[in-house]
Amino acid sequence: MKKILQSIDEWQTRKLTFPGIDDNTLTIRKNIWLSSFASTFSIAGMTLLALLLDIPTIVEYGLVLIALSLPVLFGLPFTKRNYHWLLFPVQLSIILVTCYFMIRLGGLLHSGGLLVTGFSILFMSINMQNPRLTLGLFIVYILTLIATVILETVFSPTHELTDFQNKLFFIVNLTWQAGYTLIIIINNINQKKQLWELKQAEATRLKELDETKTKLLTNISHEFRTPLTIILGMAKLVREKPEEWLKKGTEKIIQSGYALLHLVNDLLDMARLEAGAMTVNCLQQDIITQLRYLVGSFSSVALEKNIDLKYSPHIGEFLMDFDADKLMQIVSNLLSNALKFTPNNGKVELATENSLNPHTFSIRVKDNGSGIAAEHLPQIFDRFYRVENPLLQSQSGSGLGLALTRELIRLMNGTITVESEPGVGTLFTITLPVTNEAPVKEQMREAETSKDEISDTVGVTSSEKSPEIKPSDENAPVVLIVEDNADLTEYLQHILAAEYQVISASDGEAGLNRAVEMIPDIIVSDVMMPVMDGIAMLGQLKNDIRTSHIPVVMLTAKADIASRLTGLEKGADDYLAKPFHEKELRIRLRNLIDMRERMQLHFASLTPDEGHLKDKSLLIENEFISKIRAFMEINIAAEEFDIHLLCQETAMSRAQLYRKFKALTGKSVFEYLRTLRLHKAKELLLSSTLNVTQVCFDVGFNNLSHFSRIFTEEFGRKPSDFRK
Ligand code: ADP
Repeated sequence: MKKILQSIDEWQTRKLTFPGIDDNTLTIRKNIWLSSFASTFSIAGMTLLALLLDIPTIVEYGLVLIALSLPVLFGLPFTKRNYHWLLFPVQLSIILVTCYFMIRLGGLLHSGGLLVTGFSILFMSINMQNPRLTLGLFIVYILTLIATVILETVFSPTHELTDFQNKLFFIVNLTWQAGYTLIIIINNINQKKQLWELKQAEATRLKELDETKTKLLTNISHEFRTPLTIILGMAKLVREKPEEWLKKGTEKIIQSGYALLHLVNDLLDMARLEAGAMTVNCLQQDIITQLRYLVGSFSSVALEKNIDLKYSPHIGEFLMDFDADKLMQIVSNLLSNALKFTPNNGKVELATENSLNPHTFSIRVKDNGSGIAAEHLPQIFDRFYRVENPLLQSQSGSGLGLALTRELIRLMNGTITVESEPGVGTLFTITLPVTNEAPVKEQMREAETSKDEISDTVGVTSSEKSPEIKPSDENAPVVLIVEDNADLTEYLQHILAAEYQVISASDGEAGLNRAVEMIPDIIVSDVMMPVMDGIAMLGQLKNDIRTSHIPVVMLTAKADIASRLTGLEKGADDYLAKPFHEKELRIRLRNLIDMRERMQLHFASLTPDEGHLKDKSLLIENEFISKIRAFMEINIAAEEFDIHLLCQETAMSRAQLYRKFKALTGKSVFEYLRTLRLHKAKELLLSSTLNVTQVCFDVGFNNLSHFSRIFTEEFGRKPSDFRK
């Protein structure tokens, strides 16, 4: 029965709805249709009875009413909000027709109770929820009753029904009209009740929402308060005792600032996720390599706590669609949690797995750290939930990490589960569906081809084992990667191979040697490394005239803000927190290379704009160029310029001198010398009485026609023109 009612309801909804309809209008339309249907049915019953009892006037009346009901039954689906204009004329007609038949049958009390028809019409008109129309119908109804009585008195029509028939139809009509009215009332009450319940549920929901908001706000405020308190406290200390607090205080201020920024970024990510504004940008690529790089990025953090961080892929390569940035966020959060909650000398492992039916790829992050008690497990994915642990009081965190992780995984249609035992360890398992529909990542393929051309570089002084990628373009800038983690080195080589000639070294000392030997165009270095760390290497690089000009990008562990500051003092040109976005690294390197081009304009100019020298780091370079220029000016008349002497003067090998000079000015030593000679010649021609031949020899040219030609090329006019 319930099913039948449900399917009738669905059928009605389908028929009576229209685009843009609201719930209330739909209910009204359904009620109108249903009551028209029910009354037509009852009228049909009454007509049948009249037919059996052979009362033709009532049969006629029944058929007229059925005919009048048909437009409503069939026409309603074609109306919209203007259904009144279909219903009202029908109802008005029924009232008038009833009046006519009552008179025909012999008057108000002799017409088998037809007068109650008006009642049902009035009740039915309530469905329209238009009081004015209902009132209009009511007035017409009363008027027809009065009219019937008057006409009955005037014309005294014959009574068509016998007394029995009249009473019988009175009862029949009264019964169905009463039943019908009752149903309409009950229906109305039910609908009102439903509406009330809906409102009640909405009110509860709003109240809950309000409570969640307040809770969220309290939580957020709380998270903001700690770093803000530190910032204010430290700022006061710095103001009061700058000598004592300047360094330490500002360090703490910056640290808290970063914590705030991190929190705000997480909150914004969360908001974007909830608003559905975060999109997944999948590319088809090897997830095994990507994970290797991510694990590699945490090696320094693991080293610091002497944690054995292991990567155990189940296969050499696995191509699938994934969003590298989102994967980075997800895996970084799990790995940093694992490293955070695992004591010194512990173990953290990231393993992979895949299954075919359904086709999924799983990532398991396992640690043997503190573990999570069973009562906390269900909540750890909630926003701001943190397990209060007095032993780990110092551990920072906002409790947003896992909430964000879960949302990101959901966005990728994956799942995350956790198993944990206090004191034993924790295992997080991420399962992602495998698809291979996204575009294949182009750049990786480029790197793949370069990998085929891998060659051992001859004369490598460093101890690194990782193969180097042979430069595809000899003029491409040379980047030196200094990184002790072989996986990370390999990854960096892959992403940079398309734009750079890549060389590498596996620790600070090897990096320093390699830098001095090769004078690369740019250096990317880790901070934490064995033998010599990145900061020490940076200090030496920046203090060595041979390498001082090379821009250095330091890669640091995320939380390692103190090392950022030390590094900046030593003159690192940029910083990137590990794991970094591939694109970001490439953009930063490109920016530094572009900046160098601006510097080259300055140093290549023979009349440089001194404004550039406000940059302290350029003073040492300026000194270098000035020294070379002075040397050239002294030796300008010498026909054979002695480069060896210049090398001695600058304590550099020819190759070192050449690469450094080229990096600073964009010109070779000889190109620069030639320009210098020509400018000197122009100066002599303008300021002295020497003739062109004398000037030509004085600036070191031994062939007059050659001199004239290149002079004209440089200044657009012949030397003799200046003489005049
Ligand atoms: P937080 O920023 O505080 O780390 P998360 O949402 O990342 O926030 O984690 C929520 C809580 O889950 C943490 O405070 C910690 O108590 C618990 N937790 C998460 N990962 C681990 C883990 N690997 N071992 C032990 N506890 C963990």
